Amino acid sequence: MNVALIAHDKKKLDLVMFVKEWKHVFGQCNLFATKTTGTLIEEKIGLDIKTFNSGPLGGDLQIGALLVTGDIDFVIFLRDPLTAQPHEPDVSAFLRICDVHNIPLATNVASAEALVLEIEKHLKK
Ligand code: PGA
Repeated sequence: MNVALIAHDKKKLDLVMFVKEWKHVFGQCNLFATKTTGTLIEEKIGLDIKTFNSGPLGGDLQIGALLVTGDIDFVIFLRDPLTAQPHEPDVSAFLRICDVHNIPLATNVASAEALVLEIEKHLKK
């Protein structure tokens, strides 16, 4: 399972706590992340992650390109809906391309919980 993990700044702690709680699942996946998110998860949890540029520097688009080539199965992107992002056009493009390619996408912790259960199910197959 190839899983992309991205979080806006005010959601990074939520994502780290979430990944820690579900380490037994994420530890069995190939993980991809934008720079700051991935580095934080690596440091705090010790999981191996393939990182790309930081989101504002094009990292969302790099992961989006992988998604287009069928190399990402699930996406958890904890967005901050209350803070303007300088790279909002990239975020919109990323979300759009998830829908174009019908990739399961969670944008908040509640939906991420539903998604991780699904990932766990796929891993057991
Ligand atoms: P970051 O990028 O992990 O480098 O902070 C995430 C984003 O803001 O899209």
